[in-house]
Amino acid sequence: MEKPNIKKNDQIELNIEDLSYEGKGVAKVDDFTLFVDNALPGEVVKATILKVAKSYGFAKATEIIKKSPHRVETIDNVYTRTGIAPLSHLEYSEQLKFKQKQVEIDFKKAKLDIKVNPTLGMENPLHYRNKAQVPVRQVDGKLTTGFYRRHSHELVPMENYLIQDPEIDAEIVSVRDILRKYNVRGFDEVNFKGQIRTIMVRRAYYTGEMMVVLVSRVRDISHYKEISAEIMKNKDVKSVYLNINSKKTNVIMGNEMILLAGSPYIDDKLLGHTYRISPRSFYQVNPVQTQNLYQLAIDKAELNGSEKVVDAYSGIGTISLSLAENVKHVTGIEVIEDAVKDAQQNADINKIENADFIVGKTEAVLNDWAKDNRKMDVLMVDPPRKGLANSLIDSIKNLKPRKMVYISCNPATLARDLALLSDTYNIGEANPVDMFPMTNHIECVISLNLK
Ligand code: SAH
Repeated sequence: MEKPNIKKNDQIELNIEDLSYEGKGVAKVDDFTLFVDNALPGEVVKATILKVAKSYGFAKATEIIKKSPHRVETIDNVYTRTGIAPLSHLEYSEQLKFKQKQVEIDFKKAKLDIKVNPTLGMENPLHYRNKAQVPVRQVDGKLTTGFYRRHSHELVPMENYLIQDPEIDAEIVSVRDILRKYNVRGFDEVNFKGQIRTIMVRRAYYTGEMMVVLVSRVRDISHYKEISAEIMKNKDVKSVYLNINSKKTNVIMGNEMILLAGSPYIDDKLLGHTYRISPRSFYQVNPVQTQNLYQLAIDKAELNGSEKVVDAYSGIGTISLSLAENVKHVTGIEVIEDAVKDAQQNADINKIENADFIVGKTEAVLNDWAKDNRKMDVLMVDPPRKGLANSLIDSIKNLKPRKMVYISCNPATLARDLALLSDTYNIGEANPVDMFPMTNHIECVISLNLK
């Protein structure tokens, strides 16, 4: 393919033909592909070229010449300029179709002939997130909270984050003001100076309890007793932590976690059970859709009460405990030790006696099970984006659970894994569930039956 004669900062008119999996408009210049920020299929835009690589490039729309009927214009474009809500300019019903189609594309690429059902969406697709991690910087001499401009680490100051629980947004402003009052400085990434890098806030949807974690570059923050006492003046805040991250890294949290005030955890409820959540534990960010997702996964498992179930990648045990009453026994497997402790506590709190939890990598634990010829009837997997390890797929083929339910947050690795399992399993229909409205993230659940 020949590279067209375009270079950075050129202005160019483009016809947008498609939407990429990242939610960018796709345009062609001859055979060359450009990914265009803030542009929707069917639109004609004036764009500025941001970058030209070997076989593709990036641009951003600066003027919409012909508008898509699906463009939402009531939304402040700060949300498409930053990475917080990159699909917020697209009508919600179209977002749901886009996600369904994306799963279909990934399945087709993997040569899988699987029906993909319409995406299960939300009635109110805004302000759903129960967790925020916002970057903190020094802007015009003041500690400031906001979100990164796309393709950069430049902070765009923000107080309303559109997709977060409004109580969390308010708490971030309140913590920001307390830190300002004590002259705490925001992080300076360029010179590696300043103190607070990130504020993390979690708010339990059903109990209203909040946890605040201040992530600091330096170990010593003067006044942190007073600061945490002031944060605790909001009666909903049950827990305040200081996390030390003194490394030059994009990883948000460091290893050291110091409880400054209140309880080490907060409690929430899901499908009638209570859950204890520690600062490091994974906990689903969309509480309304989590219940729908879990219910769908449990329905797809078609349980009759006699099964031995393994819940792999179990986090704080939410799936295990949601289905425990429908099975003989469930074993959760999870690599983060604190999450396993939470899961064990959660079983006790909910008086569930037929669940246990193992610390370890799923691939290692199930490899041992396969060697020992231990049996299970149903395997639930809910892996991170990279999907299942190859060795795990081998162990599954040895263990031969009668049924599998795969919950995936990445359709590309889901398709890859299903293709590998398709010689041993018949694959059911896929159900995308919109866990992350206004973003390009796609969650999907599917069942597999042993041939
Ligand atoms: N099922 C849980 C958690 C899903 S997120 C829920 O719905 O809340 C994925 C989880 O897998 C995280 O808790 C992460 O810590 C864990 N994890 C990541 N890699 C793992 C591995 N190789 N083996 C076991 N757990 C792993």
